[in-house]
Amino acid sequence: MTKRIAIIGAGPSGLAQLRAFESARKAGVRNIPEIVCYEKQADWGGMWNYTWRTGLDKYGEPVHGSMYRYLWSNGPKECLEFADYSFEEHFGQQIPSYPPREVLLDYIMGRVERSNVRQYIRFNTPVRWVQWCPDSRKFSVTVMDHEHDQLETEQFDHVIVASGHFSTPNVPYFQGVENFQGRVLHAHDFRDACEFRDKRLLLVGSSYSAEDIGTQCFKYGARSITFSYRSAPMGHDWPEGFRERPLLTRVDGNVAHFKDGSSEEIDAIVLCTGYQHHFPFLPDQLRLQTNNRMYPDGLYKGIVFQQQPELMYLGMQDQYFTFNMFDAQAWYLRDLIMGGIALPERQARAADIGRWRQLEAKLDGADDDIDFQAAYVRDLLAPTDYPRFDIDAQAALFKRWQADKRRDIMGYRNQCYRSVLTGSKAPPLARPWMEIMDDSLASFRRLHMADPENKSRARAARKAGAGGRSRSADANRAAAPQPA
Ligand SMILES: Cc1cc2nc3c(=O)[nH]c(=O)nc-3n(C[C@H](O)[C@H](O)[C@H](O)COP(=O)(O)OP(=O)(O)OC[C@H]3O[C@@H](n4cnc5c(N)ncnc54)[C@H](O)[C@@H]3O)c2cc1C
Repeated sequence: MTKRIAIIGAGPSGLAQLRAFESARKAGVRNIPEIVCYEKQADWGGMWNYTWRTGLDKYGEPVHGSMYRYLWSNGPKECLEFADYSFEEHFGQQIPSYPPREVLLDYIMGRVERSNVRQYIRFNTPVRWVQWCPDSRKFSVTVMDHEHDQLETEQFDHVIVASGHFSTPNVPYFQGVENFQGRVLHAHDFRDACEFRDKRLLLVGSSYSAEDIGTQCFKYGARSITFSYRSAPMGHDWPEGFRERPLLTRVDGNVAHFKDGSSEEIDAIVLCTGYQHHFPFLPDQLRLQTNNRMYPDGLYKGIVFQQQPELMYLGMQDQYFTFNMFDAQAWYLRDLIMGGIALPERQARAADIGRWRQLEAKLDGADDDIDFQAAYVRDLLAPTDYPRFDIDAQAALFKRWQADKRRDIMGYRNQCYRSVLTGSKAPPLARPWMEIMDDSLASFRRLHMADPENKSRARAARKAGAGGRSRSADANRAAAPQPA
C-alpha cells in the first residue's frame, strides 16, 4: 500500500524534502509516497519570507519570521549554492557574494517553482498535535485549517518535522529590566534598524544575531553599539562607537550594569539571546529536546528520531552548511523511507549517534565545526543520488569567510569568492556594503545586473505555469513594506 507522509513546514528544509521525492518521481521511480506538507504561513520559503508582523499573525498564530529589513546574507552565497542550481543559472550571470535577503529568496524560489511541488502544500494550516498510535502503527496528525476555520485529523506512516528552530525566542530575565524606559525586544521581533537611529543600543549576546543587528543598526545611524557577552567577547576589531562588555547584571533606570562593575547609559535593549527548539505540537515521547548544537542527541544521522524512527527531523543542527545540508538530509530520508537505504537496528543506530557525539565533543572552534559538518554532509550524501559537489571546497570557503570577518567585520561583505559549482568568481558589490542602504531585489538588480528586467520576466513566466493553492511569493513581497 502507498505510504502517507506528513511534512511539517515549507521552509528550505521542507521544500528540500518535497523536491527529493519529486526528483525520484521524475526519474520514473514508482510507488512514491503520498505527501501532504502543512505550512502555517500563507506562503513557502520559511524564514526567508519577510514579515512586518511581530507577536501573532492574523489567525492568532505565533509569527514565525525572525528576519528583518536590510538583512544581507551573513555568509558567502557560494557556501549555500544548491548543487543542482547555480546562481548563474538563476540570474543569468554571476552576482556578488553577499546578496540581500530578497535576492536569496528569489534564488531559493527559482528552483522550487520549477519543481511542481506547490500542489502538495496546504498553506495557512498549522499542525496542532501529532500522536503515535501503536495499534495502527501510524501517526495521527491534527491541523488547524485556517482557510476553512476547522480542525482536521489525518493518519500518516511518517512525519517529517521541518519547522525550523530560529523562531521561538529564548528570553532571560535581567533585574530591573521591567522598569527600563526605553524599548526592550528580542531579536525575533527586530524588524527595522532605522528605529534605532541616534540611539545608544545594548545588544545582549555575542553570536550572529548580535553581530548582525549591531552592525546594521550602526550602518543605519545608531549612536553607539554595546554588546554584552556571557562567556567570551566576539573580539572583532570594532570601529569607534562599538564596545564589548561582560554580562548584563541589572538595569537601573536607563543605566545598564555589567559583571565587571562597569555601567553605561542606554536607550534600547535587544536581547540576542538565541532561540529554542520548540515543538508545541509534539508529546514528550516524540519531542526532540536539544539546544542549538552541531549534533543533537537522539537523532540517527542527525535526522531519524531514535525513540520512534518513523518520526524524522530536518535542519535541527547548528548550521554552517544550510541549503545543501537540508538537501542531503532530505535525499537520505527519501531513500530511507522508500527502502533504498536500510535502517539499522536500534543498537547500531545508537552506536552511530555515539560516534558522532564523541567527535562533536572534541570540536574546538569554528574551523573544527566546519570540518565536522562537511564530514556529516558527505556521510549523508554517499549512499544517495544527489548531484555531487565539492564539499571540501565549500568548507574551505567557510573558513575563508571566518578569517575575512576576523580581519574586517564591517567590510567582509565586500569580498568576492569563486563558485565551487561553476568556477567563476563573483563580481564586487557596486559600492561598499556600508554604503548600500536599499536592500531590495529591484535595487540589487539595477546595481549589479546587465539586464535587470530579463529574469523577472522569466520568473513571472515560470510562475504563471506553476499554479498553486495560495497567493504567490511575488504577491507576498508586494504586500511587504519596501525599504526607503
Ligand atoms: C535572522 C536570521 C538570519 C539568517 N541568515 C542566514 C543566512 O544568511 N544564510 C543562511 O544560509 N541561513 C540563514 N539563516 C538560517 C535559516 O533559518 C535557514 O537558512 C533556513 O531558513 C532554515 O530552513 P528550515 O526550513 O529548516 O526552517 P524555516 O526557514 O524556519 O522554515 C520552517 C517552516 O515551518 C513552518 N512551521 C513552523 N511551525 C509549524 C507548524 N506547527 N505547522 C506548520 N508549519 C509550521 C514555518 O512557518 C516555516 O515556514 C538565518 C536565520 C535567521 C533567523
